[in-house]
Amino acid sequence: MADCIFCDIVRGRVPAEVVYEDDLVMAFHDINPQAPVHVLLIPKEHVAGVLDLSDDHEAVAGRIQTAAAKIARQLDVADRGFRLVANCGSDGGQTVFHLHYHLLAGRALRWPPG
Ligand code: 5GP
Ligand code: ZN
Repeated sequence: MADCIFCDIVRGRVPAEVVYEDDLVMAFHDINPQAPVHVLLIPKEHVAGVLDLSDDHEAVAGRIQTAAAKIARQLDVADRGFRLVANCGSDGGQTVFHLHYHLLAGRALRWPPG
């Protein structure tokens, strides 16, 4: 999709520190990390957000979960724990409208979130 920063990262037009990639999913470090480990997992196909997922996306939605577990182990945060979260819409605080899940780790994360 044009004018989508994450599509540009998938196409290699915008650089990113990629930590994981397969045929469906890409993951890279967040440019403005909110924790010592802050990785974004995205579908390579443009999907605006959680509400835009359809039955056709079950494979990629599942792959994001299994990729998150792999990345947590790869970055050595699996034992201490982490948070996997997708912000959705205005109240959710979504600012980039290409679906992404934040993998946050490396410090104790408060609950409830702000
Ligand atoms: P949201 O607020 O939509 O849940 O999360 C968007 C995230 O994308 C933010 O944490 C922001 O720092 C990150 N982000 C925005 N633009 C870029 C970029 O060009 N590169 C990377 N690596 N992260 C970005
Ligand atoms: Zn996109």
